[in-house]
Amino acid sequence: MLIRRATLLDGRVADIRVGDVITDIASSVAPLPRESVLDAQSGAVLPGLHDHHVHLHAAAAALDSVAVGPPAVRTGPEFTRAVTAAEPGGDGWIRAVGYHESVAGELHRAQLDAVRPTTPLRVQHRSGALWILNSAALARIGYADHPDGRLASSDPRLAEAIPRREPDLAALARRFAALGVTGVTDATPDLGSDDIASLTKALKQRVSCLAPGKKILHDDRLDVDGLTQWIADRHRGGIPVAIHCVTAAQLVVTIAALKAAGQDPLDRIEHAAMVPDDSVCELAELGITVVTQPNFVAERGDRYRQDIPADEHGQLWRVASLMRAGVPVAASTDAPFGALDPWAAMRAAVTRDTHDGHVLGPQECLEPLAALSMFLGSAVRPAQPRRLAPGQPGDLCVLSVPPADALRTLASDMVSATVVAGVVI
Ligand SMILES: [Zn+2]
Repeated sequence: MLIRRATLLDGRVADIRVGDVITDIASSVAPLPRESVLDAQSGAVLPGLHDHHVHLHAAAAALDSVAVGPPAVRTGPEFTRAVTAAEPGGDGWIRAVGYHESVAGELHRAQLDAVRPTTPLRVQHRSGALWILNSAALARIGYADHPDGRLASSDPRLAEAIPRREPDLAALARRFAALGVTGVTDATPDLGSDDIASLTKALKQRVSCLAPGKKILHDDRLDVDGLTQWIADRHRGGIPVAIHCVTAAQLVVTIAALKAAGQDPLDRIEHAAMVPDDSVCELAELGITVVTQPNFVAERGDRYRQDIPADEHGQLWRVASLMRAGVPVAASTDAPFGALDPWAAMRAAVTRDTHDGHVLGPQECLEPLAALSMFLGSAVRPAQPRRLAPGQPGDLCVLSVPPADALRTLASDMVSATVVAGVVI
């Protein structure tokens, strides 16, 4: 297809011929017979966005779940309203997600029964590690006598007895398309090759996947030698690693293990939610890519301000200080644990505004173009923004406004077309 009158990020106006790859880009390209033509009307045309860390099945499931945590729901009365209004899915269950204690304290079956006494209801904690079920749900899975209805996600009864809701991946693909997303990296551990094949088939976007080199750490089981061995084993098999670091302790141990094991250039650190000052230089020396989620500053910032000592706020979700030190940084939403919209994550990276209007880590604010660029890398090189040039993949995001306006608002409603491999999706 031919896209005419595109404004590139550098301000040039060009026509772009795009198929599997971009084949032509010039101030004027004549259409071929019967070639489909899209007039960008001077709107910005960018490489399609890539969300570098999402959980596709869970994100699709969340589309037909009710959100019961911040930022959508923040108080007990809001929780009651949301759960009262929720419609059961085709399986007869209500599925609620994203709960956090800041909303209405530690949840038990009795609170859920008070709101929904008869419809089976399951509420997932924001951590993903815990489900809380009401009595109707507990009775269905043979746990009628369960004391409080709080079940670990790993509880075998949950997986066996709860009807598996087929996540609507086509609906998820449409959401991504509306946001200008042309590629995603699934960060779910233990995805099998069947899962990956079905995801690739169901989504029009390009799908890649971090398993089998993905590792989640736990503070009470940190072991430098074990982690070093695990990294070395992966590298021997030609597999880069992606290590999930949320706490400072996890990051420090990971850095030590990477130093000892040596590195693959495609290794990455997921989240890096807390980065102590000393670790910034060490990350830069390692040259390892950090894949972070600035959206959590907006979504959870007020909570961090309460729960984390003030002198550690500067360590939270760093972006600009990492870049200044030379660390390659890419961004992602971690949907469904974070909101699915990469544009909201870019705005959070620019303003660092929390919901209540505080600025968390003002020294970490980015310029809009830098925030956008964190979503322009490829799956393999997340921190290296793609450029529109012949030979580059035919994955584009077309906006209704020129680049300067787009950078001023960074709003998803500017996306007018999303192109994957030369086809509007
Ligand atoms: Zn994740």
